[in-house]
Amino acid sequence: MDQTPTVPETMRAAVLVAPGEPLAVKRIRTPRPRSGEVLVKVTACGLCHSDLHVMSGKILFPTPAVLGHEVSGVLVELGENTLHSGLAVGDAVCGAFLMPCGQCPDCARGRDDLCAPFFRFNRLQGQLFDGSSRLADLDGSVIAQYSMGGLAEYCVIPVTAVTPMPGGMDAVAAAILGCAAMTAYGAVRRGADLRHGETVAVIGIGGVGSHIVQVAHELGARRVIAIDVDDDKLEHAIRYGASDVINSRHVNARDRVLALTGGRGVDVAIEALGFPTTFEQALTLLADGGRMVPVGLAAGSQTAAVEINRLVRRGQQVRGSYGARTRTDLPIVVDLAARGVLDYRGVVSERVSLYRAEETYRRLERGAVSGRAVVEMALNDR
Ligand SMILES: [Zn+2]
Ligand SMILES: [Zn+2]
Repeated sequence: MDQTPTVPETMRAAVLVAPGEPLAVKRIRTPRPRSGEVLVKVTACGLCHSDLHVMSGKILFPTPAVLGHEVSGVLVELGENTLHSGLAVGDAVCGAFLMPCGQCPDCARGRDDLCAPFFRFNRLQGQLFDGSSRLADLDGSVIAQYSMGGLAEYCVIPVTAVTPMPGGMDAVAAAILGCAAMTAYGAVRRGADLRHGETVAVIGIGGVGSHIVQVAHELGARRVIAIDVDDDKLEHAIRYGASDVINSRHVNARDRVLALTGGRGVDVAIEALGFPTTFEQALTLLADGGRMVPVGLAAGSQTAAVEINRLVRRGQQVRGSYGARTRTDLPIVVDLAARGVLDYRGVVSERVSLYRAEETYRRLERGAVSGRAVVEMALNDR
């Protein structure tokens, strides 16, 4: 049997005390895994744009809470009923934000992305599937966990949302595979159901958009048009396989897309920002019969306008895509990264300490993070 490494009683975590307040790095109790769960010593955790909506209170979530939903780490303890996973203590692993229960009707038909218990317990209440959080303050008071609560030295993850990483991977950069890269794969492979030779436009070239460009290119898109308002991000997009770039601050994106596609528009437009304006813009880029796939989360219950007759007469579709099918797709995403098909390392632009998470989120909010920033748990600078 594997020897479980000594796990300390307490750990450092970045705690969101209340919406609108800065993250506070403090000591809380180290969580322990229950049935169907594993304990991971966190190597790195990505800082994702969707956290900002929770931090500001635009997306409601209980506090105090530990955020952080894309992690890499080392498995240090297996809970009961996890042996079927084939995982072992000491494995380098990657964890996904979308943690399927594995038991509900949607999970049974493979639609991990629709798992209702995940939304009910975790996204609404900050809990795991037994209706409690694994996190608690030193005095025992409950701390909610957003996904696994990865902005901490340790985190508990349902075994359904963990996959081993082969040797030779960059364990820090790999943190982003469980949200940014998996969401991109889900958008292209599941949401858009991209076919070889189709044309694709991607709006928003951040952590997710950069991966969408790569996945679309690798899955055989004839043309991948990257759209952003930042020339640096567009330059990166070319490196990731974009055939064309449009700075929509200076150029009318629809006119340019039509010019690039012989007046047709694109077969697939993927929107990665979650703004009503870019959602509407994505629809204007579509060819007849085209699919618009929104993957960016809006700030709360925002709406966008859809031109009814155009959608009806042109046979166009809007196909929302949230994450991917974790149990099937996370191992594929890790494999794509391990084989160098996905340049996940290039997307990671900054490695910061847990103490600098708050400041880095503020820069992310201003659009000043190109690619993806990750917290590297071994760093300690303030
Ligand atoms: Zn995310
Ligand atoms: Zn489920």
